[in-house]
Amino acid sequence: MAESGRPVGVFGNGVNKNEKIQIRILAMVLVGLLAASVFFMAGTYRSTLSHDEESLLDQMQSVGAFVADNVDTVSYRLAGDALAAGRTPSSAVLKAQRRLERQLARMERSSDVRTIRLTTRYNLSAYEERRFVDLCKAPGDADALISVPEILWTRYVAVEPTRVAATETDTRLRVFVPVMDGSRRVIGHVVVEQDFRPQIVRARADLLRYGAFYLVGLLLLMSIIFRRFVRLIAQHVVERRMTLEQKTHIAEHDALTGLYNRSFVMDQIGAELKAGRTGNGTFALMMLDLDGFERINELYGPRTGDELLKLVGRRIHNILSKSDIVGRASGDEFIILLRGVQNGQFATSVAERVLKVVGSHFLVQDQELEVTVSIGICFYPDDGSDVGTLMRSAAAALSQAKLKGKNCYQLYNGDASRRAVELVRLEKQLGQAQKNDELRLFYQPKFDMDRRLVGMEALLRWQTRDGLVPPVRFIPVAESSGQIVEIGKWVIDEAMRQLNVWNGKGWTDLRMAVNVSPVQFCDDSLVPSIRKALEANGIKPSDLEVEITESAMMQNMDRTVRDIRRISDLGVQIAIDDFGTGYSSLAKLAEIPINTLKIDKSFIDNVVTNEASSITTNSIIGLAKSLKKCVVAEGVENEEQLEYLRRNGCDVIQGFIFGKPLPADDFYDAYMKKGR
Ligand code: C2E
Ligand code: MG
Ligand code: MG
Repeated sequence: MAESGRPVGVFGNGVNKNEKIQIRILAMVLVGLLAASVFFMAGTYRSTLSHDEESLLDQMQSVGAFVADNVDTVSYRLAGDALAAGRTPSSAVLKAQRRLERQLARMERSSDVRTIRLTTRYNLSAYEERRFVDLCKAPGDADALISVPEILWTRYVAVEPTRVAATETDTRLRVFVPVMDGSRRVIGHVVVEQDFRPQIVRARADLLRYGAFYLVGLLLLMSIIFRRFVRLIAQHVVERRMTLEQKTHIAEHDALTGLYNRSFVMDQIGAELKAGRTGNGTFALMMLDLDGFERINELYGPRTGDELLKLVGRRIHNILSKSDIVGRASGDEFIILLRGVQNGQFATSVAERVLKVVGSHFLVQDQELEVTVSIGICFYPDDGSDVGTLMRSAAAALSQAKLKGKNCYQLYNGDASRRAVELVRLEKQLGQAQKNDELRLFYQPKFDMDRRLVGMEALLRWQTRDGLVPPVRFIPVAESSGQIVEIGKWVIDEAMRQLNVWNGKGWTDLRMAVNVSPVQFCDDSLVPSIRKALEANGIKPSDLEVEITESAMMQNMDRTVRDIRRISDLGVQIAIDDFGTGYSSLAKLAEIPINTLKIDKSFIDNVVTNEASSITTNSIIGLAKSLKKCVVAEGVENEEQLEYLRRNGCDVIQGFIFGKPLPADDFYDAYMKKGR
């Protein structure tokens, strides 16, 4: 089937505002998480390092305190004093120095790798102090104390230990613990020193190793979350687009056949009109309706009907060119838009092809089905310049095709098509009338010349919301559509039921006349249905009179005469209605079992004033007499007419002079209530 082309992207700009915000928020959260992690790791690194530094300084301080507590203060002092005096050390001093050195070396060994030095005060110049330290600790490391911070010197006399932390440029940790003599005077300091670089290097390595591990894990997790989220949104976008496409498809297509639907075709016609106004675009619109599709539905079921519609749609679609559009309008109705049609010939050739492909057999669920189609065709701009008018024109042409006998196409032609529309509309409404109980029977009395009620004629009325519809308007429609068969059965049933009611009230010698259409004579069920109605209501057959118009009898002579015989065989009376207008052959009249001739109203109208009418009336009466038939004058409206007919031997009078057709109850009140 033809598809409407729409661009389909993958993600495109299908992401809506909400989702864009969601993606942004998620990205921000993830980046924030990453930053927080880095920040946290840096913090942990720093606090671990400073914690390590503190505990190392603690250890160093306790080592320093130990040294300060246990140093041989005498030797220390001796060495210091000698140094202070700038003397060459005496042997006693040297001894003291060596003692001190040994003691320091011992203590140093017992306290891991830390460097322990001693400093002294007592007016030491920096140089002197350095020398002192060199002397007592590391003779080769003369610059060792140069970097001792100034603060140490200013607090040299401090009795509290001093701790020097590592810096960016100097990674050495130092603790200065005061050494005191017996009288608690500071005589120097134990300097404990250790390089903190190995710890820094280790912490950095840890940070790198674990941090990298952690970050890689985090990034991986984040990318999984982000990808999942993006995929979710992409899925939403695709789903949305799918539903949008599905919605568009549903909005434009007919669910059953897959063809375009009515509103889409109408839109396309609208677009064609726009193009047509600006350019020279002409086009044809065809409206198609399957003939008797309802019957197929009733006979084979709606599923078979649906299948058939699909196949019909496909066949029509297949014979059209790509530029044409076919849609299902509703039920069994299709519309075709033929673009660029310059002349009627092309459109009719398409219509002929449609008739041909639809008219050939269909195989539906192993059943061979046959169906035909009626087609109405109109053209733009000749038959309408807007969508509504064109659709109406096509529908009018279709109605005309239906009335023409179906299975054909019809080009739109003004009034004829419009009349056809009215008839088809009536036909549709009439279909509902019986179901909605809108049909009524009125009764018009028949009197003999002694003004005695001898019977009545049942006359059909259609009670619509807008009032009573007379039979001349709807009976021809019911006849052309075949609805008269069902309606006619109802008329006979209802008339017999009513006669039975009146019989029950003591009026047992009345004859009920019922009009029967020639179409009913073509239906085999007519005779049985009459018999059934008589039996069901216990009516004497001779109390029923079937009226058939003379012209109708002439239409299908053999068949009608055969049925008349059958009905007559039941004992039912036969009357020829509107006699004098149908040119029946006298020879035939004598052969057919007819009981009554009803003189047509047109002769009665002028029977007093017009010679030709009076001659015809007299001839009919004469003929009836000679054939021993009853003669009824209908449409008698005044006393002159009545008097004339009485004088000339007419048997029964029907006309407004005695009464118009009335509903059963009114009829009873008017003619039967008061008794005979
Ligand atoms: P019809 O069978 O010849 O019925 C007589 C018609 O003449 C009736 O019109 C009746 O009302 C009318 N009429 C009777 N007396 C007078 C009168 O004095 N003056 C005037 N102006 N008219 C009079 P109605 O009821 O409109 O029926 C018209 C026709 O419709 C009937 O003609 C009959 O052919 C047909 N029809 C009525 N009911 C049925 C029915 O149930 N089945 C069939 N097949 N045809 C029916
Ligand atoms: Mg009649
Ligand atoms: Mg008549």
